[in-house]
Amino acid sequence: MNKKGLLEKEVLSLLTKAKQRDTSYDKVLSSMCTKPHPIAIKAHMQFISSNMGDFGLFQGTKELEEEVIQMMGSMLGDANACGYLTTGGTESNIQALRTARNIKNKNHPNMVVPNSSHFSFDKIADLLGIEMRKASMDREFKADIDSVANLIDQNTIALVGIAGSTEFGQIDPIDKLAELALSNDLFFHVDAAFGGFVIPFLDKKYDFDFSVKGVTSMTSDPHKMGMSTIPAGGLLFKDKACLLPLEIDTPYLTIRKQHSLTGTRSGAAVAATYAVMKHMGQDGYRKIVKKCMKMTDTLVQGTRKLGVKPLIEPVMNIVALDVPELDEVRKKLRAKGWITSITRNPRAMRIIVMPHMNETSIELFISDLELCL
Ligand code: PLP
Repeated sequence: MNKKGLLEKEVLSLLTKAKQRDTSYDKVLSSMCTKPHPIAIKAHMQFISSNMGDFGLFQGTKELEEEVIQMMGSMLGDANACGYLTTGGTESNIQALRTARNIKNKNHPNMVVPNSSHFSFDKIADLLGIEMRKASMDREFKADIDSVANLIDQNTIALVGIAGSTEFGQIDPIDKLAELALSNDLFFHVDAAFGGFVIPFLDKKYDFDFSVKGVTSMTSDPHKMGMSTIPAGGLLFKDKACLLPLEIDTPYLTIRKQHSLTGTRSGAAVAATYAVMKHMGQDGYRKIVKKCMKMTDTLVQGTRKLGVKPLIEPVMNIVALDVPELDEVRKKLRAKGWITSITRNPRAMRIIVMPHMNETSIELFISDLELCL
């Protein structure tokens, strides 16, 4: 740090230069985050100093959070669900499995997750000392129920199902997993970090949420398809008792107990999420999802004409394309400014069609892909 501070305009100029080196979202096809809605940005700025780590001081923001949780709960099949806004899917998944571990209280606990699970579950295994057992996937990249059943033993504490898998955008058979969880007396967490703000607004209906008996907790992230600001994740429990194993005493704060993983917590992201959900309403999100699904359709139809097929028919706005010479093609696309990512097994080009794209940019991507093949 300098001994003497810089002028504001000097600092702002440094920031502008740094921002220029950041990638703008316009040609980013690899991100599950997007440009936040303008109203979310306004609300974020208005609540920039609110700290939910000591929400006794920020009663107004706390009430916004309660309403957000109620709105998310009713979107996800239970208006009475409880929970809080986290830093993202990773924290929500950690906290859900922490609850499961503390409630089940086994000496050598294990959890059964589908092979398609996000790498946050590797962190959970390491942090919480829970053995991770990975179930195989069926041909459509959904968790294979027989494989899950075979991995359950007397030390299993939890099953995990994914509603909107990171790589394929696939939805596991949540109802069948829930039956397995109920019959084995297991905690059942549904990771809908991405799908939580997509699946309720798709034309096709899926049983994936608290309306399925046996689902105990859910992750759903406003900072992904919810179009809120970062860091806004959501953790919801069916039963209020699930928050108790997370609670610790906070003797020197204005509140007596805290159940979040982080101490200091962004009230700005809470306000942003409240603002965007209130402003968009169900109709607004349905419109966004419709737009993304239409672009997904344009993409798949266009690439098919080039002889490039998706590994599965897209369930949501995530596409895995079977591109030949994948690394070479991605490199050439990168030179044209396009950022794509990959699926691991099988290897394919992974594309997330987010609200920051439009039909024209999708058409441009298809013509650039043709040149790169
Ligand atoms: N779960 C799923 C299914 C995800 O796709 C992701 C992120 O891509 C996460 C969890 C982790 O979310 P975050 O990066 O917000 O911690």
